Amino acid sequence: MGEEEKVIYFDNNATTAVAPEVFEAMTPFLTKLYGNPSSIHHFGGQVMAHVETARERLAALLGAAPTEVIFTSCGTESDNAAIRSAMLTCPQRDKLVISKVEHPAVLNLAKDLERRGYRVSMIPVDGKGKLDMERARELIDNQTSVVSVMWANNETGNIYPIYELADLAHRNGALFHTDAVQAVGKVPMNLSESQIDFLSLSGHKLHAPKGVGALYVRRGVRFRPFVIGGHQESNRRAGTENVASVVGLGKAAELARLNIEKENSQVRAMRDKLEQGILKTIPEVRVNGDVEHRLPNTANISFEYIEGESILMLLDMFGICASSGSACTTGSLEPSHVLRAMGIPYTAAHGAIRFSLSRYNTMDEVDFVLEKLPPVIARLREISPYWNQK
Ligand code: PLP
Repeated sequence: MGEEEKVIYFDNNATTAVAPEVFEAMTPFLTKLYGNPSSIHHFGGQVMAHVETARERLAALLGAAPTEVIFTSCGTESDNAAIRSAMLTCPQRDKLVISKVEHPAVLNLAKDLERRGYRVSMIPVDGKGKLDMERARELIDNQTSVVSVMWANNETGNIYPIYELADLAHRNGALFHTDAVQAVGKVPMNLSESQIDFLSLSGHKLHAPKGVGALYVRRGVRFRPFVIGGHQESNRRAGTENVASVVGLGKAAELARLNIEKENSQVRAMRDKLEQGILKTIPEVRVNGDVEHRLPNTANISFEYIEGESILMLLDMFGICASSGSACTTGSLEPSHVLRAMGIPYTAAHGAIRFSLSRYNTMDEVDFVLEKLPPVIARLREISPYWNQK
């Protein structure tokens, strides 16, 4: 694929295109307005007003106060900052409770904390990826310092009952963090009416650039900075602000807030057409996840008895981009930890493909994928020993 060739991009949970309006809003800060927002002189200082406008726009999308928003470099940093702060501010408690299907940003952090002496408990999921709430009620106890459960899963799109979990955490005197990297901009939220203490988000999943994220910290919650140095972000995250990207994230948040309902219904219609078309034309496929409680843009589909990686390679020849498991685990041929936690049989987990759409997709693209996919699957099954021996 050359860079100029047409791409059918169905991999928006990996990353999204920067919206043209976002790019336009950012450009002055990469050209003329390059001052440091902390400078005393007007040339630099004037930039700070634009950082604050971005903060207001992001806060409006979250239903939060601007002072509750800290800009960071990415979702991973926000996850680290929240969980580490919660552990540090509750030294008398040594337990972290997460779900088994967290992104590696939380999962591997938890493993690292475990090596350092913290206790980590994981809430299991069922075959649809739904959390075992009974087990959650047992695991969250008066030794728990923080509960961290994602708002929406990046692989299946499953949406989790985080209001209930936040309530459960508080009833046990624990803090609650949610990795909302996949949910922000797709799920309407009003954090001021919730018990959520920390929420992580990432710019590049909502049509802002890579390398910018944010952390919501509820007013009154004690916070220990993760990145220590200068006094930026009211002493909560040191380092000169990534002004252009912060402005871009603010613009992306504004677009998401204004269009969330319309976009969700358009994207859902495309996703549903794709999914139903696949189920109708290809035998032995299964949809993974909780179809009633999932993001409108995500379909995770297993094509039994073949390898997801081979499907991706053949689709790539038509310019179709999708993902097998999560983008972050691509490269290893192990089925994703999410599908394993769900107990998806080996023959199906290996052939799982995630299609994730955005407002920039079209019904024509869906039709194109529905035309190209069935022969790809048939061709791979012809040469699959598992298919031929089943
Ligand atoms: N959390 C979830 C659920 C994700 O999907 C991702 C990215 O794929 C991350 C965290 C990490 O975000 P970032 O790439 O901004 O570090």
